[in-house]
Amino acid sequence: MWHNDFPALAALAARGITYLDSAATAQKPAALLLALQTYLSQGAANVHRAGYRLADEVTSAFEACRDDVAAFIGAAQRDEIVFTRSATEAFNLLAYGLEAQINAGDELLLSPLEHHANLLPWQQLAARRGAKLVWLPISASGHIDMAAASALFTPRTKLLAVTQLSNVLGTLQPVRELCTLAAQHGALSVVDGAQGVVHSSVDVRALDCDFYVFSAHKLYGPDGLGVLYGRHHLLNQLPPWQFGGEMVLQVSRDSASFQAAPLRFEAGTPPISAVLALRASLAYLRTLDRSAVAAHEALLLQQLKTGLDQRAGVRRLGDSDAALVSFVVDGVHHADLAQLLDEQGIAVRSGQHCAHPLMATLGVAGSTRVSLGLYSQAADLERFFTALDNALALLQ
Ligand code: PMP
Repeated sequence: MWHNDFPALAALAARGITYLDSAATAQKPAALLLALQTYLSQGAANVHRAGYRLADEVTSAFEACRDDVAAFIGAAQRDEIVFTRSATEAFNLLAYGLEAQINAGDELLLSPLEHHANLLPWQQLAARRGAKLVWLPISASGHIDMAAASALFTPRTKLLAVTQLSNVLGTLQPVRELCTLAAQHGALSVVDGAQGVVHSSVDVRALDCDFYVFSAHKLYGPDGLGVLYGRHHLLNQLPPWQFGGEMVLQVSRDSASFQAAPLRFEAGTPPISAVLALRASLAYLRTLDRSAVAAHEALLLQQLKTGLDQRAGVRRLGDSDAALVSFVVDGVHHADLAQLLDEQGIAVRSGQHCAHPLMATLGVAGSTRVSLGLYSQAADLERFFTALDNALALLQ
């Protein structure tokens, strides 16, 4: 089906490589390659600066991507979309920007599922301000326990930072309910959509979140580009955190005044070609029937879960809802397994998945993760299982 739209898959197949690590980064559609080729071969120009025609054209295309991203995630206004260098940078921007609003004794609510990108910036902020991290408990299936969660919101809760879809367990979290609780308690909500935006239709207004973050490269877009969505008035309350060209209104020798959001957060030359490439990826995604994509991924996920459950000694971690599964094998180290899989051309992630606290919570040293993209196929999983059986025959 859609795999023909992704030229790298044929190149990988020619090398005998089966790519099952799309949660780390996704392969790119031909539409993206064409957009980059066109931009880079027809004349680059910087955005928002010069007044000549070429620069105006590039600025218009760049800004059109802001409209497309706003529409893609249901933002109320285009000014609510900030381009960053990565999801990681967006979380750091928030943690610095919100610093003045966090005081000693305040509580930041996090889940043990968080990727380090949505943990370490808050951990550092808490340390700088004397605030406390409070942990939302998760169930054995890997879902945040809502009954226990609601009891953890207190008048001291200032911020909720939570993932929409776990990059380790594939579990979808009740982010809408959590964001509503946060709002009721006067706390801000930050949703990590790095995985969620790829596998569900996102509507930030329906989610009721204050901030939503994702990376373009997992959404079939380019690397070097992240997106921060924030409610208009909240974004404009945040001070800028990087300083330089184009984010200013006026500069004297001793002081400066700054643009409103989003430009105040986009100091220096932004990742122009990446933004144009993301625009092409979003246009490609709009041509697809997203419910057909979801149904396709759901079938593959079922095939993956069933196959793993049929193998002796293999234990899935949590109960995935979407597109990826992590597992451990009794008596087998995940690094040994990954190496044997790699030798057979299977590209999967093994290790701690940038989620050390989750590994500690689950009581495992690491795991092997198989993750799917919309271009994945049943035959990819069949090759994975053949390779897994060969590896386990040696290791078990
Ligand atoms: N959050 C989640 C859930 C992720 O899976 C990732 C990427 N592994 C990130 C945040 C960070 O994204 P990036 O490395 O692109 O900044």
